[in-house]
Amino acid sequence: MAGSSQKAAVLTSRDEDFPRWYQDVLNKAELADNGPVRGTMVIRPYAYALWEHMQTAVDARIKAAGAENVYLPLLIPQSYLEREAEHVDGFSPELAVVTHAGGKDLTEPAVVRPTSETVFGELMAKWIQSHRDLPMRLNQWANVVRWEMRPRIFLRTSEFLWQEGHTAHATRDEARTFARRIHLDVYRDFLHNMLAIPVLVGVKTEREKFAGAMSTMTCEAMMGDGKALQMATSHELGQNFAKAFDISYTDSAGQSQICWTTSWGSSTRMIGGLIMAHGDDHGLRLPPRVAPVQVVVIAVKNDDRTVTAASVLTDSLVTAGVRARLDARTDQGFGRRATEWELKGVPLRVEVGPRDLDHGESTVVRRDTRQRFTVGRDSTVTAIHELLDEIHTAMFAAAGDRLGQRTIDVDTLDAAVDASSTGFARIPWRVLGEHGERQLNAHAVTVRCLQTVDGALPDGETPEELMAIVGRSY
Ligand code: AMP
Repeated sequence: MAGSSQKAAVLTSRDEDFPRWYQDVLNKAELADNGPVRGTMVIRPYAYALWEHMQTAVDARIKAAGAENVYLPLLIPQSYLEREAEHVDGFSPELAVVTHAGGKDLTEPAVVRPTSETVFGELMAKWIQSHRDLPMRLNQWANVVRWEMRPRIFLRTSEFLWQEGHTAHATRDEARTFARRIHLDVYRDFLHNMLAIPVLVGVKTEREKFAGAMSTMTCEAMMGDGKALQMATSHELGQNFAKAFDISYTDSAGQSQICWTTSWGSSTRMIGGLIMAHGDDHGLRLPPRVAPVQVVVIAVKNDDRTVTAASVLTDSLVTAGVRARLDARTDQGFGRRATEWELKGVPLRVEVGPRDLDHGESTVVRRDTRQRFTVGRDSTVTAIHELLDEIHTAMFAAAGDRLGQRTIDVDTLDAAVDASSTGFARIPWRVLGEHGERQLNAHAVTVRCLQTVDGALPDGETPEELMAIVGRSY
Protein backbone atom coordinates (compact mmCIF):
# COMPACT_ATOMS: atom_id res chain seq x y z
CA MET A 1 0.00 0.00 0.00
CA ALA A 2 2.84 2.36 0.80
CA GLY A 3 4.01 1.93 -2.78
CA SER A 4 0.69 2.76 -4.36
CA SER A 5 -0.06 5.80 -2.22
CA GLN A 6 3.40 7.10 -3.03
CA LYS A 7 2.66 6.56 -6.74
CA ALA A 8 -0.74 8.25 -6.51
CA ALA A 9 0.94 11.28 -5.03
CA VAL A 10 3.14 11.49 -8.09
CA LEU A 11 0.99 10.94 -11.16
CA THR A 12 -2.67 10.97 -12.16
CA SER A 13 -3.58 7.46 -13.31
CA ARG A 14 -3.99 6.97 -17.04
CA ASP A 15 -7.45 5.46 -16.71
CA GLU A 16 -8.67 8.33 -14.62
CA ASP A 17 -7.52 11.17 -16.87
CA PHE A 18 -5.15 10.39 -19.72
CA PRO A 19 -4.45 14.01 -20.78
CA ARG A 20 -3.65 14.92 -17.18
CA TRP A 21 -1.42 11.91 -16.84
CA TYR A 22 0.44 13.10 -19.97
CA GLN A 23 0.84 16.57 -18.52
CA ASP A 24 2.02 15.12 -15.20
CA VAL A 25 4.67 13.02 -16.97
CA LEU A 26 5.92 16.07 -18.89
CA ASN A 27 6.32 17.97 -15.61
CA LYS A 28 7.48 15.31 -13.21
CA ALA A 29 9.92 13.61 -15.56
CA GLU A 30 11.26 17.09 -16.40
CA LEU A 31 10.68 16.76 -20.12
CA ALA A 32 9.19 20.06 -21.20
CA ASP A 33 7.62 23.33 -20.22
CA ASN A 34 5.36 25.81 -21.92
CA GLY A 35 7.17 28.58 -23.77
CA PRO A 36 6.40 32.23 -23.11
CA VAL A 37 4.32 32.61 -26.29
CA ARG A 38 1.17 30.48 -26.32
CA GLY A 39 1.63 27.17 -28.10
CA THR A 40 5.41 27.17 -27.93
CA MET A 41 7.46 24.76 -25.82
CA VAL A 42 10.74 24.47 -24.01
CA ILE A 43 12.44 21.11 -24.40
CA ARG A 44 14.32 20.30 -21.19
CA PRO A 45 17.68 18.46 -21.12
CA TYR A 46 16.33 14.94 -20.57
CA ALA A 47 13.86 15.18 -23.48
CA TYR A 48 16.42 16.93 -25.65
CA ALA A 49 18.89 14.09 -25.05
CA LEU A 50 16.14 11.68 -26.08
CA TRP A 51 15.48 13.77 -29.21
CA GLU A 52 19.19 13.70 -30.07
CA HIS A 53 19.23 9.90 -30.00
CA MET A 54 16.10 9.82 -32.14
CA GLN A 55 17.56 12.36 -34.52
CA THR A 56 20.80 10.40 -34.91
CA ALA A 57 18.89 7.24 -35.78
CA VAL A 58 16.56 8.94 -38.27
CA ASP A 59 19.47 10.85 -39.81
CA ALA A 60 21.51 7.68 -40.35
CA ARG A 61 18.58 6.06 -42.16
CA ILE A 62 18.00 9.15 -44.32
CA LYS A 63 21.66 9.18 -45.32
CA ALA A 64 21.55 5.46 -46.07
CA ALA A 65 18.69 6.20 -48.48
CA GLY A 66 21.02 8.63 -50.29
CA ALA A 67 19.93 12.08 -49.10
CA GLU A 68 22.28 14.85 -47.95
CA ASN A 69 21.65 17.51 -45.32
CA VAL A 70 21.36 21.23 -46.07
CA TYR A 71 20.20 24.30 -44.19
CA LEU A 72 17.83 26.90 -45.61
CA PRO A 73 16.68 30.24 -44.13
CA LEU A 74 13.88 30.58 -41.60
CA LEU A 75 12.13 33.36 -43.55
CA ILE A 76 10.38 32.88 -46.87
CA PRO A 77 9.11 35.65 -49.17
CA GLN A 78 5.32 35.57 -48.98
CA SER A 79 5.07 35.39 -52.76
CA TYR A 80 6.78 31.98 -52.77
CA LEU A 81 3.92 30.38 -50.92
CA GLU A 82 1.39 31.82 -53.31
CA ARG A 83 2.82 29.96 -56.26
CA GLU A 84 1.22 26.64 -55.44
CA ALA A 85 -2.46 27.37 -54.95
CA GLU A 86 -3.44 24.38 -52.82
CA HIS A 87 -0.32 24.77 -50.71
CA VAL A 88 -1.04 28.37 -49.76
CA ASP A 89 -4.71 27.59 -49.09
CA GLY A 90 -3.73 24.71 -46.83
CA PHE A 91 -1.22 26.70 -44.83
CA SER A 92 -2.49 30.29 -44.73
CA PRO A 93 -4.50 29.97 -41.50
CA GLU A 94 -1.38 28.71 -39.73
CA LEU A 95 1.16 31.22 -40.99
CA ALA A 96 3.16 33.64 -38.87
CA VAL A 97 4.18 36.59 -41.03
CA VAL A 98 6.87 39.18 -40.40
CA THR A 99 5.59 42.53 -41.66
CA HIS A 100 7.84 44.85 -39.70
CA ALA A 101 11.62 44.63 -39.25
CA GLY A 102 14.57 46.97 -38.86
CA GLY A 103 12.18 49.66 -37.67
CA LYS A 104 10.09 49.77 -40.88
CA ASP A 105 7.29 47.98 -42.63
CA LEU A 106 8.68 45.46 -45.08
CA THR A 107 7.87 45.97 -48.74
CA GLU A 108 7.35 42.23 -49.04
CA PRO A 109 6.25 40.42 -45.88
CA ALA A 110 8.29 37.35 -44.94
CA VAL A 111 6.64 34.17 -43.76
CA VAL A 112 8.22 32.14 -40.95
CA ARG A 113 8.54 28.76 -42.66
CA PRO A 114 5.69 26.33 -41.92
CA THR A 115 7.70 23.94 -44.16
CA SER A 116 10.43 24.82 -46.64
CA GLU A 117 8.66 23.23 -49.61
CA THR A 118 8.62 26.42 -51.65
CA VAL A 119 12.25 27.42 -50.99
CA PHE A 120 13.39 23.93 -51.93
CA GLY A 121 11.27 24.34 -55.06
CA GLU A 122 12.98 27.58 -55.98
CA LEU A 123 16.48 26.22 -55.29
CA MET A 124 15.94 22.95 -57.10
CA ALA A 125 14.78 24.90 -60.14
CA LYS A 126 18.12 26.67 -60.04
CA TRP A 127 20.33 23.70 -59.21
CA ILE A 128 18.83 21.17 -61.58
CA GLN A 129 19.75 21.61 -65.23
CA SER A 130 20.37 18.24 -66.79
CA HIS A 131 19.36 14.65 -66.19
CA ARG A 132 22.83 14.25 -64.67
CA ASP A 133 21.73 16.41 -61.73
CA LEU A 134 19.03 13.87 -60.89
CA PRO A 135 17.95 12.48 -58.57
CA MET A 136 18.45 15.38 -56.17
CA ARG A 137 17.88 14.18 -52.61
CA LEU A 138 18.06 16.77 -49.82
CA ASN A 139 17.09 16.86 -46.17
CA GLN A 140 16.95 19.63 -43.61
CA TRP A 141 16.81 19.52 -39.80
CA ALA A 142 15.11 22.72 -38.67
CA ASN A 143 12.42 24.42 -36.65
CA VAL A 144 9.15 25.37 -38.32
CA VAL A 145 6.18 27.46 -37.20
CA ARG A 146 2.50 26.64 -37.66
CA TRP A 147 0.10 28.72 -35.59
CA GLU A 148 -1.86 25.90 -34.03
CA MET A 149 -5.29 26.54 -32.52
CA ARG A 150 -5.21 23.65 -30.05
CA PRO A 151 -1.58 23.37 -29.02
CA ARG A 152 -0.31 20.54 -26.86
CA ILE A 153 3.32 19.97 -25.92
CA PHE A 154 5.18 17.76 -28.41
CA LEU A 155 1.97 16.70 -30.17
CA ARG A 156 1.00 19.96 -31.73
CA THR A 157 3.07 23.02 -30.95
CA SER A 158 3.28 26.30 -32.80
CA GLU A 159 7.00 25.85 -33.24
CA PHE A 160 8.46 22.39 -33.57
CA LEU A 161 11.67 20.68 -34.58
CA TRP A 162 11.65 18.31 -37.50
CA GLN A 163 13.41 17.01 -40.53
CA GLU A 164 11.99 17.69 -43.94
CA GLY A 165 13.26 15.80 -46.96
CA HIS A 166 12.79 17.07 -50.50
CA THR A 167 13.73 15.21 -53.63
CA ALA A 168 13.43 15.63 -57.39
CA HIS A 169 13.45 12.78 -59.90
CA ALA A 170 13.32 12.23 -63.62
CA THR A 171 10.26 10.00 -63.63
CA ARG A 172 7.11 9.48 -61.67
CA ASP A 173 8.09 5.93 -60.97
CA GLU A 174 11.45 6.87 -59.48
CA ALA A 175 9.84 9.53 -57.28
CA ARG A 176 7.24 7.09 -56.09
CA THR A 177 9.76 4.35 -55.37
CA PHE A 178 11.92 6.76 -53.41
CA ALA A 179 9.06 8.16 -51.32
CA ARG A 180 7.95 4.63 -50.46
CA ARG A 181 11.49 3.68 -49.55
CA ILE A 182 11.71 6.62 -47.15
CA HIS A 183 8.36 5.76 -45.69
CA LEU A 184 9.15 2.12 -45.03
CA ASP A 185 12.93 1.97 -44.58
CA VAL A 186 13.38 5.24 -42.73
CA TYR A 187 10.16 5.96 -40.84
CA ARG A 188 8.59 2.57 -40.27
CA ASP A 189 11.95 0.96 -39.58
CA PHE A 190 12.87 3.68 -37.09
CA LEU A 191 9.50 3.54 -35.33
CA HIS A 192 9.61 -0.25 -35.06
CA ASN A 193 13.27 -0.85 -34.37
CA MET A 194 14.21 2.18 -32.32
CA LEU A 195 11.01 3.44 -30.67
CA ALA A 196 9.39 -0.01 -30.36
CA ILE A 197 6.13 1.47 -31.65
CA PRO A 198 4.26 -0.65 -34.20
CA VAL A 199 2.65 1.54 -36.85
CA LEU A 200 0.03 1.10 -39.53
CA VAL A 201 1.22 2.31 -42.90
CA GLY A 202 -1.21 3.56 -45.47
CA VAL A 203 -2.23 6.52 -47.60
CA LYS A 204 -4.30 9.51 -46.55
CA THR A 205 -7.66 10.19 -48.15
CA GLU A 206 -8.12 13.22 -50.43
CA ARG A 207 -9.55 15.08 -47.45
CA GLU A 208 -6.57 14.38 -45.18
CA LYS A 209 -3.64 14.61 -47.56
CA PHE A 210 -0.94 17.30 -47.53
CA ALA A 211 -1.78 20.62 -49.21
CA GLY A 212 -0.50 20.32 -52.76
CA ALA A 213 0.41 16.63 -52.70
CA MET A 214 -0.74 13.97 -55.15
CA SER A 215 -0.68 11.39 -52.39
CA THR A 216 0.38 11.30 -48.75
CA MET A 217 1.64 8.20 -46.95
CA THR A 218 1.42 8.05 -43.18
CA CYS A 219 2.62 5.98 -40.23
CA GLU A 220 -0.18 5.84 -37.66
CA ALA A 221 0.38 4.64 -34.11
CA MET A 222 -2.05 3.78 -31.34
CA MET A 223 -1.55 5.53 -28.02
CA GLY A 224 -2.22 4.07 -24.56
CA ASP A 225 -5.77 5.46 -24.59
CA GLY A 226 -6.58 3.96 -27.99
CA LYS A 227 -6.29 7.25 -29.90
CA ALA A 228 -4.26 7.61 -33.06
CA LEU A 229 -1.17 9.71 -33.60
CA GLN A 230 0.33 10.44 -37.00
CA MET A 231 4.03 9.78 -36.51
CA ALA A 232 5.49 10.65 -39.93
CA THR A 233 4.32 11.47 -43.44
CA SER A 234 5.77 11.12 -46.94
CA HIS A 235 4.30 12.87 -49.94
CA GLU A 236 4.37 12.21 -53.63
CA LEU A 237 4.06 15.74 -54.97
CA GLY A 238 3.70 14.65 -58.58
CA GLN A 239 4.57 17.59 -60.83
CA ASN A 240 2.54 20.17 -58.88
CA PHE A 241 5.48 21.89 -57.23
CA ALA A 242 7.80 21.21 -60.17
CA LYS A 243 5.39 23.07 -62.47
CA ALA A 244 4.82 25.90 -60.00
CA PHE A 245 8.57 26.42 -59.54
CA ASP A 246 9.75 25.31 -62.96
CA ILE A 247 11.90 22.43 -61.75
CA SER A 248 12.93 20.95 -65.06
CA TYR A 249 15.83 19.17 -66.68
CA THR A 250 17.18 18.44 -70.11
CA ASP A 251 16.97 14.74 -70.87
CA SER A 252 19.60 12.71 -72.75
CA ALA A 253 17.85 13.55 -76.04
CA GLY A 254 18.13 17.27 -75.32
CA GLN A 255 14.41 17.68 -74.53
CA SER A 256 13.23 19.75 -71.59
CA GLN A 257 11.27 17.70 -69.04
CA ILE A 258 9.48 18.54 -65.81
CA CYS A 259 10.71 16.81 -62.64
CA TRP A 260 8.70 14.72 -60.20
CA THR A 261 9.19 15.68 -56.57
CA THR A 262 8.65 14.20 -53.11
CA SER A 263 8.77 15.50 -49.56
CA TRP A 264 8.67 13.75 -46.20
CA GLY A 265 8.81 14.80 -42.58
CA SER A 266 8.89 13.69 -38.97
CA SER A 267 8.92 15.92 -35.92
CA THR A 268 9.23 16.29 -32.17
CA ARG A 269 5.64 14.98 -32.16
CA MET A 270 7.26 11.53 -32.08
CA ILE A 271 8.43 12.29 -28.53
CA GLY A 272 4.80 12.75 -27.51
CA GLY A 273 3.98 9.49 -29.28
CA LEU A 274 6.72 7.71 -27.40
CA ILE A 275 5.41 8.96 -24.07
CA MET A 276 1.79 8.04 -24.80
CA ALA A 277 2.47 4.70 -26.49
CA HIS A 278 4.68 3.27 -23.75
CA GLY A 279 4.08 5.20 -20.53
CA ASP A 280 2.30 3.65 -17.54
CA ASP A 281 1.01 4.84 -14.17
CA HIS A 282 4.56 4.93 -12.83
CA GLY A 283 5.71 7.30 -15.56
CA LEU A 284 7.73 7.03 -18.73
CA ARG A 285 8.93 3.75 -20.15
CA LEU A 286 11.70 4.47 -22.60
CA PRO A 287 12.65 2.02 -25.33
CA PRO A 288 16.31 1.12 -24.64
CA ARG A 289 17.74 2.05 -28.03
CA VAL A 290 16.89 5.76 -27.66
CA ALA A 291 16.91 6.06 -23.86
CA PRO A 292 19.39 8.76 -22.77
CA VAL A 293 20.18 6.59 -19.74
CA GLN A 294 19.80 2.87 -20.43
CA VAL A 295 20.88 1.63 -17.03
CA VAL A 296 21.02 3.39 -13.71
CA VAL A 297 23.26 1.83 -11.08
CA ILE A 298 22.05 2.78 -7.62
CA ALA A 299 24.34 2.60 -4.63
CA VAL A 300 21.80 1.60 -2.02
CA LYS A 301 23.78 2.50 1.07
CA ASN A 302 26.35 5.06 2.05
CA ASP A 303 29.35 2.88 2.69
CA ASP A 304 32.62 2.90 0.80
CA ARG A 305 32.40 -0.67 -0.37
CA THR A 306 28.92 -0.20 -1.88
CA VAL A 307 29.65 3.12 -3.57
CA THR A 308 32.93 1.81 -4.99
CA ALA A 309 31.32 -1.37 -6.30
CA ALA A 310 28.48 0.62 -7.92
CA SER A 311 30.96 2.97 -9.48
CA VAL A 312 33.13 0.13 -10.83
CA LEU A 313 30.07 -1.55 -12.31
CA THR A 314 28.94 1.71 -13.96
CA ASP A 315 32.38 2.14 -15.50
CA SER A 316 32.42 -1.36 -16.88
CA LEU A 317 28.97 -0.84 -18.42
CA VAL A 318 30.09 2.42 -20.03
CA THR A 319 33.21 0.69 -21.36
CA ALA A 320 30.97 -1.98 -22.83
CA GLY A 321 29.05 0.72 -24.74
CA VAL A 322 26.02 0.96 -22.44
CA ARG A 323 24.64 4.40 -21.51
CA ALA A 324 24.94 3.84 -17.75
CA ARG A 325 24.62 6.38 -14.96
CA LEU A 326 25.72 6.07 -11.34
CA ASP A 327 23.32 7.24 -8.65
CA ALA A 328 25.35 7.62 -5.47
CA ARG A 329 23.07 10.21 -3.84
CA THR A 330 23.04 8.18 -0.64
CA ASP A 331 21.94 11.21 1.35
CA GLN A 332 18.50 10.67 -0.22
CA GLY A 333 16.28 7.71 0.55
CA PHE A 334 16.64 4.72 -1.75
CA GLY A 335 12.90 4.43 -2.40
CA ARG A 336 12.62 7.98 -3.52
CA ARG A 337 15.52 7.64 -5.93
CA ALA A 338 14.15 4.40 -7.35
CA THR A 339 10.76 6.08 -7.94
CA GLU A 340 12.43 8.97 -9.70
CA TRP A 341 14.28 6.69 -12.16
CA GLU A 342 11.06 4.81 -12.78
CA LEU A 343 9.32 8.07 -13.55
CA LYS A 344 12.08 8.86 -15.99
CA GLY A 345 11.57 5.53 -17.69
CA VAL A 346 15.14 4.23 -17.46
CA PRO A 347 14.88 0.68 -18.90
CA LEU A 348 17.05 -1.04 -16.27
CA ARG A 349 17.93 -0.32 -12.69
CA VAL A 350 20.76 -2.13 -10.97
CA GLU A 351 20.74 -1.95 -7.20
CA VAL A 352 24.03 -2.46 -5.43
CA GLY A 353 23.83 -2.98 -1.68
CA PRO A 354 25.93 -4.68 0.99
CA ARG A 355 23.86 -7.88 0.83
CA ASP A 356 24.25 -8.16 -2.96
CA LEU A 357 27.98 -7.70 -2.54
CA ASP A 358 28.19 -10.42 0.12
CA HIS A 359 26.42 -12.79 -2.26
CA GLY A 360 28.43 -11.77 -5.32
CA GLU A 361 25.23 -10.67 -7.05
CA SER A 362 23.48 -7.60 -8.44
CA THR A 363 19.77 -6.90 -8.18
CA VAL A 364 18.32 -5.88 -11.52
CA VAL A 365 14.86 -4.35 -12.05
CA ARG A 366 13.22 -4.04 -15.47
CA ARG A 367 11.23 -0.86 -16.02
CA ASP A 368 8.89 -2.34 -18.63
CA THR A 369 7.61 -5.27 -16.53
CA ARG A 370 8.91 -4.06 -13.13
CA GLN A 371 10.33 -7.57 -12.61
CA ARG A 372 13.15 -7.86 -10.13
CA PHE A 373 15.82 -10.55 -10.23
CA THR A 374 19.42 -11.20 -9.31
CA VAL A 375 22.31 -11.85 -11.65
CA GLY A 376 25.85 -12.94 -10.83
CA ARG A 377 28.21 -9.99 -10.51
CA ASP A 378 30.60 -11.38 -13.09
CA SER A 379 27.91 -11.75 -15.71
CA THR A 380 26.10 -8.46 -15.07
CA VAL A 381 27.44 -6.65 -18.14
CA THR A 382 26.54 -9.49 -20.53
CA ALA A 383 23.14 -9.93 -18.90
CA ILE A 384 22.39 -6.23 -19.30
CA HIS A 385 23.20 -6.25 -23.00
CA GLU A 386 20.78 -9.11 -23.51
CA LEU A 387 18.13 -7.57 -21.31
CA LEU A 388 18.16 -4.28 -23.21
CA ASP A 389 17.36 -6.16 -26.42
CA GLU A 390 14.75 -8.25 -24.66
CA ILE A 391 13.06 -5.12 -23.30
CA HIS A 392 12.89 -3.60 -26.76
CA THR A 393 11.25 -6.74 -28.13
CA ALA A 394 8.82 -6.99 -25.21
CA MET A 395 7.77 -3.34 -25.50
CA PHE A 396 7.20 -3.67 -29.24
CA ALA A 397 5.15 -6.83 -28.67
CA ALA A 398 3.06 -5.26 -25.90
CA ALA A 399 2.25 -2.22 -28.04
CA GLY A 400 1.43 -4.60 -30.92
CA ASP A 401 -0.94 -6.61 -28.73
CA ARG A 402 -2.82 -3.48 -27.77
CA LEU A 403 -3.04 -2.38 -31.40
CA GLY A 404 -4.33 -5.81 -32.40
CA GLN A 405 -6.84 -6.10 -29.58
CA ARG A 406 -8.20 -2.62 -30.01
CA THR A 407 -8.63 -2.69 -33.78
CA ILE A 408 -12.07 -3.98 -34.64
CA ASP A 409 -13.40 -5.04 -38.04
CA VAL A 410 -16.75 -3.39 -38.73
CA ASP A 411 -19.04 -2.85 -41.69
CA THR A 412 -21.22 0.07 -40.69
CA LEU A 413 -20.54 3.69 -39.90
CA ASP A 414 -22.20 3.45 -36.47
CA ALA A 415 -20.04 0.49 -35.51
CA ALA A 416 -16.98 2.42 -36.68
CA VAL A 417 -17.87 5.36 -34.44
CA ASP A 418 -18.41 2.96 -31.52
CA ALA A 419 -15.10 1.18 -32.03
CA SER A 420 -13.35 4.56 -32.16
CA SER A 421 -14.17 5.18 -28.53
CA THR A 422 -11.68 2.48 -27.50
CA GLY A 423 -9.36 2.18 -30.48
CA PHE A 424 -9.44 1.80 -34.25
CA ALA A 425 -12.07 0.43 -36.59
CA ARG A 426 -11.26 -1.22 -39.90
CA ILE A 427 -13.95 -0.81 -42.51
CA PRO A 428 -13.93 -1.42 -46.28
CA TRP A 429 -13.37 1.91 -48.04
CA ARG A 430 -16.04 1.03 -50.61
CA VAL A 431 -18.54 0.80 -47.71
CA LEU A 432 -17.44 4.05 -46.05
CA GLY A 433 -16.54 6.30 -48.98
CA GLU A 434 -16.12 10.05 -48.93
CA HIS A 435 -19.68 10.59 -47.80
CA GLY A 436 -19.15 8.28 -44.80
CA GLU A 437 -15.85 10.00 -44.08
CA ARG A 438 -17.60 13.36 -43.72
CA GLN A 439 -20.16 11.82 -41.38
CA LEU A 440 -17.39 10.32 -39.25
CA ASN A 441 -15.72 13.71 -39.03
CA ALA A 442 -18.92 15.10 -37.51
CA HIS A 443 -18.30 12.64 -34.64
CA ALA A 444 -14.67 13.80 -34.29
CA VAL A 445 -13.55 10.53 -35.87
CA THR A 446 -11.20 10.57 -38.86
CA VAL A 447 -9.92 8.17 -41.47
CA ARG A 448 -6.34 7.66 -40.35
CA CYS A 449 -5.28 5.87 -43.50
CA LEU A 450 -6.24 3.51 -46.29
CA GLN A 451 -4.35 0.27 -46.62
CA THR A 452 -4.67 -3.04 -48.41
CA VAL A 453 -6.61 -5.92 -46.90
CA ASP A 454 -3.25 -7.36 -45.73
CA GLY A 455 -2.31 -4.12 -44.01
CA ALA A 456 0.22 -3.06 -46.65
CA LEU A 457 0.78 0.30 -48.28
CA PRO A 458 -1.51 0.40 -51.35
CA ASP A 459 0.52 0.37 -54.51
CA GLY A 460 -1.61 3.12 -55.99
CA GLU A 461 -1.30 1.72 -59.51
CA THR A 462 -3.52 -1.31 -59.68
CA PRO A 463 -7.12 -1.20 -58.45
CA GLU A 464 -7.27 -3.10 -55.17
CA GLU A 465 -9.67 -3.47 -52.28
CA LEU A 466 -8.80 -0.87 -49.63
CA MET A 467 -9.58 -0.85 -45.94
CA ALA A 468 -10.04 2.40 -44.03
CA ILE A 469 -8.52 2.59 -40.56
CA VAL A 470 -10.57 5.04 -38.56
CA GLY A 471 -10.15 6.44 -35.08
CA ARG A 472 -9.97 9.48 -32.87
CA SER A 473 -6.70 11.30 -33.07
CA TYR A 474 -4.42 13.74 -31.33
P1 AMP B 1 3.30 17.65 -42.78
O1 AMP B 1 4.32 18.56 -43.36
O2 AMP B 1 2.02 18.35 -42.45
O3 AMP B 1 3.09 16.41 -43.58
O4 AMP B 1 3.87 17.16 -41.38
C1 AMP B 1 5.09 16.49 -41.30
C2 AMP B 1 5.27 15.88 -39.94
O5 AMP B 1 5.23 16.86 -38.90
C3 AMP B 1 4.17 14.89 -39.63
O6 AMP B 1 4.77 13.76 -39.08
C4 AMP B 1 3.30 15.60 -38.64
O7 AMP B 1 2.74 14.66 -37.77
C5 AMP B 1 4.25 16.54 -37.94
N1 AMP B 1 3.56 17.77 -37.51
C6 AMP B 1 2.67 18.52 -38.22
N2 AMP B 1 2.26 19.58 -37.49
C7 AMP B 1 2.88 19.51 -36.29
C8 AMP B 1 2.86 20.32 -35.09
N3 AMP B 1 2.13 21.42 -35.00
N4 AMP B 1 3.65 19.91 -34.05
C9 AMP B 1 4.41 18.82 -34.15
N5 AMP B 1 4.46 18.03 -35.24
C10 AMP B 1 3.72 18.36 -36.30
